[in-house]
Amino acid sequence: MEKILKNFFLFMGKNKAATKMAKKYGLRFGAGRFVAGASLQSSIDVIRKLNAEDLYVTIDHLGEFVDNEQEAKEMTDHCIEAVKGIAENNLNSQLSLKLTSLGLDISRELVLSNMKRLLAAAEEYDVFITIDMEDEARCQATIDILKELRSEYENIGTVLQAYLYRTVADIQDLDSYNPNLRLVKGAYKESPSVAFPEKKDVDENFKKIIKMHLLNGNYTAVATHDDNIISYTKELVKEHNIPNDQFEFQMLFGIRVERQRQLRDEGYKMRVYVPYGNDWYGYFMRRLAERPANVAFVLKGVFGK
Ligand SMILES: Cc1cc2nc3c(=O)[nH]c(=O)nc-3n(C[C@H](O)[C@H](O)[C@H](O)COP(=O)(O)OP(=O)(O)OC[C@H]3O[C@@H](n4cnc5c(N)ncnc54)[C@H](O)[C@@H]3O)c2cc1C
Repeated sequence: MEKILKNFFLFMGKNKAATKMAKKYGLRFGAGRFVAGASLQSSIDVIRKLNAEDLYVTIDHLGEFVDNEQEAKEMTDHCIEAVKGIAENNLNSQLSLKLTSLGLDISRELVLSNMKRLLAAAEEYDVFITIDMEDEARCQATIDILKELRSEYENIGTVLQAYLYRTVADIQDLDSYNPNLRLVKGAYKESPSVAFPEKKDVDENFKKIIKMHLLNGNYTAVATHDDNIISYTKELVKEHNIPNDQFEFQMLFGIRVERQRQLRDEGYKMRVYVPYGNDWYGYFMRRLAERPANVAFVLKGVFGK
């Protein structure tokens, strides 16, 4: 049953018509538990609260299915506004984004020029940018763009997904760029021809890539809510004397909030990924797919408390 629900939510998350409809009607169905709000100001308010609790942040202006140059330009302008907002309010936050929202599916030239415009502003305001990883079909293009940008800019990193067979090779391939990488299990529906279908294999590969990237001496963000992976990371860094400033834990806004504070109290750097914006639907569907138990919140949103 859980698998059926997971596939259903992943399928719904890819539905363009539903995405456009959801934008019109604003945050619904309990999505506010996982999304800071519709405006940049709402995310700034959330960052301020989290920073006051010694939690680090990365904000993500939600945007999917951008299919024309004008929309990609507007998304880039918005990201630049966000970077300025972070700096002008003295907030401790990075920015995460999806390359498709800056024009990846339109042309390589467009996404590169938008990224360079953003990175120039981010460098000026000293804000780090992480390129989220999308589905496997876009993985190579994302890595190629990261490599190109990394040769010019320091303040850029990306994400690798443990469920893909290719990721061990990508960790090795990217090592010479000394990238700051966020490592995750992976959130999209992928075919068994490209991704491990079994959770236990994903978990094993997750541990393997965390170890590789840390022992290569690179900065590593371990982004997970999974206690097994968190314990593994803690033991690994202890065993190899890896300092606390070479890695951090990351979790999503609204998920395992108590655990986030516990890790902070244990002295680890804990970063919260805070999404905001009108385009909340695809993100929300992926969160439901990860944990169908969250459907209870949706039902409350639909039928009242
Ligand atoms: C900061 C961050 C950034 C991410 N960026 C990307 C990205 O760029 N690309 C991408 O594909 N994916 C991304 N993801 C999503 C990621 O790939 C996974 O889909 C997601 O994190 C779920 O996997 P998990 O490691 O938390 O483990 P899971 O196996 O999903 O969960 C492990 C355990 O965590 C606990 N848990 C999970 N959810 C809850 C909850 N709501 N309440 C209480 N306990 C819970 C449960 O005990 C569960 O068994 C990101 C995740 C994070 C945290």
